[in-house]
This record gives sequence, C-alpha cells and structure tokens, in this order.
Amino acid sequence: MSISSVLPSQTSGASLQAKSLIQEAGERPTLSRQVVLEILLNTPRALTHTEIASAAAEAGNALDRVTLYRVLDWLIDKELAHKIASEDRVWRFNALSRDAQNSSSTHEHAHFQCKYCGQLYCLDELRPAFAFTLPPGFQCEHAELTLRGRCPDCQD
Ligand SMILES: [Zn+2]
Ligand SMILES: [Zn+2]
Repeated sequence: MSISSVLPSQTSGASLQAKSLIQEAGERPTLSRQVVLEILLNTPRALTHTEIASAAAEAGNALDRVTLYRVLDWLIDKELAHKIASEDRVWRFNALSRDAQNSSSTHEHAHFQCKYCGQLYCLDELRPAFAFTLPPGFQCEHAELTLRGRCPDCQD
C-alpha cells in the first residue's frame, strides 16, 4: 500500500496545527520539524522511519536519513511524538496528543498491532489503569500495553 493512500491530499490544516503545536512548546517551527509532525498528525496509525521518509519525499520535502532521525528524536524529546516498539522490532512513530484537562502528555495509552498487516495504531482513548502492586524496592517508570488482532482493513 502506498503511503499516499493514507494521507489526505489537503494538508494545510495539519500544517498549521503542526506549526502551532511546535510554537506552543516554545520552540522554533523549522520546515523539517513541521513536515515530520504534519505527516504524523495526518495518519491514524503509527509510521516507520521508512514510511515517514517516503511521505516527506512525496510531499516534495525529502529529508535525508540523519535529519529525519534528528527531527524524530527532537519531537519525542519535546513530547510532540512518541515511538512504539513492536513485535517485528521496527520502531514506529506517531504524534502524541495532549490531554486537555492535564498538561502532561498522554504516554499511557494502549496500542493495537494487526497480526495480518503489521500496522500499529495508537488507541488514544484507551488508558489502561496500570494498577498493580510491585514488590518492595521496585519502581515503575514505564508501562506498555499492546493489543494484537485484526484491524478494520484486514476483515476478510
Ligand atoms: Zn491489518
Ligand atoms: Zn501511541
């Protein structure tokens, strides 16, 4: 499946959104930052590095490998994006939506990976309550929940 089939052709709204999100974070919205964040905002699923690179090239804003890695690291550092590990050992990236009531970012949502096409989706609305008791001396700093199954595109 070509990446263009998942990107809406009209992207100016997202472009403005990407720019203002970066400005709200108190940072400088360089073109490469805007391009990458816009791609992530525009797709409902998480994208691999390769998919982001080809989406940027298709939009006429080709980024070299090093720049793309640097921008992705920067977006993650600023909590505008997050990366998700998956069974195929390929990192996938997605924009990180913010909770309106709570200025902290919503890292703690669940993910869904399709067993048939491998696509990975952020389930922003699904916030598992990681309520468990750890043995003395252990402190939880990060918890992940990935559900696996069949995505809507893969229903027979
Ligand atoms: Zn699927
Ligand atoms: Zn996510």
